[in-house]
Amino acid sequence: MKLLEERMLKDGNVLGKDILKVDSFLTHQVDFKLMKEIGKVLAEKYADRGITKVVTIEASGIAPAIYVAEELDVPMIFAKKHKNITMTEDILTAQVYSFTKQVSSTVSISAKFLTSKDRVLIIDDFLANGQAAKGLVDIISQAGAEVVGIGIVIEKSFQAGRQLLEDEGIEVTSLARIKNFNDGKLNFMEADA
Ligand code: 5GP
Repeated sequence: MKLLEERMLKDGNVLGKDILKVDSFLTHQVDFKLMKEIGKVLAEKYADRGITKVVTIEASGIAPAIYVAEELDVPMIFAKKHKNITMTEDILTAQVYSFTKQVSSTVSISAKFLTSKDRVLIIDDFLANGQAAKGLVDIISQAGAEVVGIGIVIEKSFQAGRQLLEDEGIEVTSLARIKNFNDGKLNFMEADA
């Protein structure tokens, strides 16, 4: 997605050898116009696939996911990273190791929001080693629902996430694919949409 790649080149900052900071438009301050475009492109790709729910993980997946859900006209559910005392009903959980925070946490979705009839599109801001997405696939499978695909805003293609998900037979659609960060500069490979 050209608009996204241009914005990453303009406002993204490479930290160390494998982290991209995009807090001015995606992970902290949010550019809703860009998110709306992202929502349109991902929704168009999955428009005729019978999606009934969009699922993401808090916090940075929520902004793109809500616009995908709006375009597809289906509910958006975000997995919670902290158990809340109001979550008294049945919950579906998975362990997720966070690449950026380097800690493992339990993520959960209330069982009442997913059924075996659901066809789910997972959305996330970044794909690195695939642990966040894998945790969501795990939760959705516990509900007996089907994962139709995974839409990613920024894929770091030099990490193992895409392979891990494709090995499980899941289609990955990434709007920007980073081949490497040579000398702190972003180099892209061809994106999926
Ligand atoms: P994974 O689970 O695929 O290893 O990592 C995905 C999650 O880690 C994303 O939900 C995102 O929050 C975070 N993440 C991974 N890599 C980056 C990165 O380079 N920059 C930022 N801002 N977040 C990242």
